[in-house]
Amino acid sequence: MKYVIISEIKLKACIILLLIAIVACGQQKDSDSGPSLEKTIYDDHVHIMSTTLISEWKKIGINFSKSDAYYADVDTILALDKANKVNLIGMGYVFLNRDYYQGDDGYEMMKQENDYILSVFQKHPDMIVPYIAVDPLNSNASSEIDRCYSKNPKVGLKLHFNVSQVYLTEPEHASKVKTIFKKAAELNIPILLHFDNGHPKFGHPDVQILIDTILKDIEPVKLQIAHFGTSGGFNQKTKNVIDAYLEMKSKITSYHHIVFDISAVALDKDSEGVSKLSDEEFSELKDYVHKLGFKYITFGTDYPLYDTEGYIKVLKKKVGFTENQIEMIIANNFKNEN
Ligand SMILES: [Zn+2]
Repeated sequence: MKYVIISEIKLKACIILLLIAIVACGQQKDSDSGPSLEKTIYDDHVHIMSTTLISEWKKIGINFSKSDAYYADVDTILALDKANKVNLIGMGYVFLNRDYYQGDDGYEMMKQENDYILSVFQKHPDMIVPYIAVDPLNSNASSEIDRCYSKNPKVGLKLHFNVSQVYLTEPEHASKVKTIFKKAAELNIPILLHFDNGHPKFGHPDVQILIDTILKDIEPVKLQIAHFGTSGGFNQKTKNVIDAYLEMKSKITSYHHIVFDISAVALDKDSEGVSKLSDEEFSELKDYVHKLGFKYITFGTDYPLYDTEGYIKVLKKKVGFTENQIEMIIANNFKNEN
């Protein structure tokens, strides 16, 4: 499937993954290696967007290959993803980035998108953890977290350092991010962080500031780092981030709970912008899974990129996960809840 993007829109790596998801063709079923739904299949990285966001993006030239329900309707999403528990991830921050939304009411639109995520939760409160989204550099970010928390104290928080163009190497950015982390810690809100800001030098310095500055002297935080630290796939940059993290990990206060989700990492299909892993890369990924340790890895699909059955199959066949190891990483998803 092809999509068309009007030329003046600068595509950033962050959004590329979403587009891959949007254009993902039919997912294949393979009943012999699919999981049994008698067990809880908990997917901690599932995207949802409102029909408002979809229509805004259609206006700027992004084609969606499936019906709106595929991306916006929670019952359709749960049925297709074949999970019985999900973290539903909002992306309201896109309304605060001029590349993705040109209106002057971006802040209101972001709030509306967060309200959509919260309303969806009401349909299946036992199956859904709603993740609202803010731009940490926006001066109203803290009050938006408070507003959503007052409506539902079970929320999670999604931050996207690429869409929001956050550079921790800028002291002002680091200070704003720290304020948001403190707020999340205070309210016991788990954070899902898309850490990679797309800068070619993103890596060691960013990990160092996260550990030495952001996570220092704050209350316990539950932090899930998306896609093993970069923007999907598994490449040198991903290895650099994990190596830097493991090198400095001992400096992190032990009460913080930090995990890496494996969503969109083990790509077995070529997609626009991010290539599938070679056999050698799959084998390196396996080494890094062991380096990180199963205890620190969680299970997510980045739906609509994959569904749970399809991605479990990839993890088993291509990365060599055993059934037991799949169960272990799914179990870790529960430890990240508030
Ligand atoms: Zn994602």
